[in-house]
Amino acid sequence: MISRSSNPFSLRCHTCIAWSGVSRKIPVLLFHAEAIVLKDANIRSIGEKYNLAFKIVRTESRLVRGILVSHGFHEVHPNSNDFNLMWTGSHLKTYLLRTLQDFQKVNHFPRSYELTRKDRLYKNIQRMQQTHGFQNFHIVPQTFVLPAEYQEFCNYFCKDKGPWIIKPVASSRGRGIYLVSSPSQIPLDENILVSRYISSPLLIDDFKFDVRLYVLVTSYDPIIIYVYEEGLARFATVKYDHAVKNIKNQFMHLTNYSVNKKSSDYVSCDDPEVEDYGNKWSMSNLTLLLLMGQIEDLIIKAVLSAEIQIATACKMFVPHRNNCFELYGFDVLIDSNLKPWLLEVNLSPSLACDAPLDLKVKASMISDMFSLVGFTCQDPGLKQMRSDKTGLDPSVKNQTQKSQVCDMKVLRRTQEEHERRGGFIRIFPTPQTWELYRLEDVRGKKNNIDKKVQARMAFSSYLHRVQMRLLAESRANSSSASSERDNDQMELVMRFLKRAASNLQQDMRVVLPSCQLSLPDRQRILSHQLGEFIHFYNKETEQMVKSLEKIKDEDHCINPNVFQEFILEASESDLEEVLTFYTHKNKSASVFLGTKSQSSETDSNKECQKGSGEPAKHQTRKSESLEILQLCDVLYGFVCPSVIRKASKPRPGSAGVFKEPDSLSAQAQSNQLAIVSALKKLVEKQAARQYSTSSHISLLTQHVSAQSPYGDLFIYFLLFLWLLTEN
Ligand code: ADP
Repeated sequence: MISRSSNPFSLRCHTCIAWSGVSRKIPVLLFHAEAIVLKDANIRSIGEKYNLAFKIVRTESRLVRGILVSHGFHEVHPNSNDFNLMWTGSHLKTYLLRTLQDFQKVNHFPRSYELTRKDRLYKNIQRMQQTHGFQNFHIVPQTFVLPAEYQEFCNYFCKDKGPWIIKPVASSRGRGIYLVSSPSQIPLDENILVSRYISSPLLIDDFKFDVRLYVLVTSYDPIIIYVYEEGLARFATVKYDHAVKNIKNQFMHLTNYSVNKKSSDYVSCDDPEVEDYGNKWSMSNLTLLLLMGQIEDLIIKAVLSAEIQIATACKMFVPHRNNCFELYGFDVLIDSNLKPWLLEVNLSPSLACDAPLDLKVKASMISDMFSLVGFTCQDPGLKQMRSDKTGLDPSVKNQTQKSQVCDMKVLRRTQEEHERRGGFIRIFPTPQTWELYRLEDVRGKKNNIDKKVQARMAFSSYLHRVQMRLLAESRANSSSASSERDNDQMELVMRFLKRAASNLQQDMRVVLPSCQLSLPDRQRILSHQLGEFIHFYNKETEQMVKSLEKIKDEDHCINPNVFQEFILEASESDLEEVLTFYTHKNKSASVFLGTKSQSSETDSNKECQKGSGEPAKHQTRKSESLEILQLCDVLYGFVCPSVIRKASKPRPGSAGVFKEPDSLSAQAQSNQLAIVSALKKLVEKQAARQYSTSSHISLLTQHVSAQSPYGDLFIYFLLFLWLLTEN
């Protein structure tokens, strides 16, 4: 065994340390599941030497505590800030997330309820079905969120009589779940999900079972997903029988441990080495039966469906890349055709150890997870010193270098995680999955051009409204002097025009009105210039439509006639929402703003590179734009763009993909505060980089803080985006 000593050589060889960083000098703690029973002083020695600390908040986990303590960690008060790990039962408040030091970790990502709340999970997957093809995301049973979708459910019920399974939107352990065979059995005053019951599950020895898989995500930007090699298969305790008379028998239809342990037929297994006896089996015995590839596909798709929301929240609230990790419990049911269905994703999968097999699987998994996420051996009381040391090398000056250093860090981190992975298997990204989920076929390409055309139509229409407004104001203002607001607005439009005209394929000479002129004259000239710009812009859109017609495919993403109709009727703020939607979806406003040397392809990466001739530089700009975009994404993401629903005519049985308006105000308000503060940070950042844009940014922040999310915000946003990429 290793002697306890401060001699650096003995640290180098210690079984509890892996070395990280460019020159492999940063010690990271390695965990050993057996420590929990061995109580070995050597295993504790590293944690004790570095004074490692944890706190457990709003939950209780003997297993987590036991593993940490047996590795020399000590527990601190829930209010203390001197910790390496905060293990919490629910999401962290954003103001707490923001205070995390680079070495501190917390076991949840912000906003991961997008995956773990049953209603949000379903909505996110439904959105992916609409944008990437129903069949490609047919991974959850058909579901309706009630009471909002009661009518859709009744219509669907006429075609498919079920049975259907009712679940509260945010509950767990089988609580409140029951089967129904008619809409009349469903309460209308509760928020519930109605899901198609999978009535032909795969049976083992005539018993229904489902599979609990442990999925670890260490990053959402970029997305990194692992699955633990051991899962648990959980069995019902009464033999399965379709007959309607059994519909109320929970011990037959539900496989939750919490439900079945109450059954007199529950069989426990006291020997951890016997893995195929009793009501919980370890997954390895089932792997022959299961098609792991399909299950992994389902996991990746589910995580990807919540990626943008969670990654955005991380950008907003998490100060360091490595602060968050999360272990999800995926419940998967396999039907008699061997198709896996995702039933739900658990936020804090149970780590209780009621049987020796639980301890065997869960203790190894938690230890491997802690090793993989990598606790830097650092005394939390000395946080300041360490933070300084791990900052960027001062010799790295420009943005390109900084972003390259960041990319290198991500790569190194992924490589190091892989070395410490234990029983975790990385399922995304891998060379196969990276290609698979990135590749676009011809239809994808066509859909992209299609979307681009529609986004451009919406944008053109939006600009037309701005043009008309300027004209109307020029008439109304004939006698008045210009206010500061008028001047600010006009300056923004001028900057927009200058920048936008340079992106046109055809040269357009922009004549900007002199500030000596009267306000109405300036407004008239600007309106005229905007009109000219729209003319050229529309011509380019027509070219695209022609190229689109050449690709034969019936599957337009939105029926063009419906879309045209919508554009004509839409208000300025409706159009803003549509454009935000496209910007959000494409991760770039270039889908309608274009770049100088456009091709018919819409891959924003390619566009960036072609447009600049300086790929690396543009890469940096892209990520900066993305940052701004994501601020807006958060703002608009919480606002209910019901117009999109109008525009996209969702398939029957769906109610669009956005949040209902009743949840708007509280969330929108709290997010506006966050946005204002994030924007202020950006102002500082920009000022430090000597851009001359701070007045516009402060205008934008004023605009946001004045709580008027529509109006000119979108155009400010566009300008802001462009101004950032200008130099
Ligand atoms: P909870 O969070 O309460 O555990 P689940 O969605 O996991 O809710 O459902 C509990 C159990 O009910 C599952 O483990 C499974 O056995 C059964 N179940 C849930 N949904 C379905 C479905 N659509 N078809 C068949 N069985 C289901």
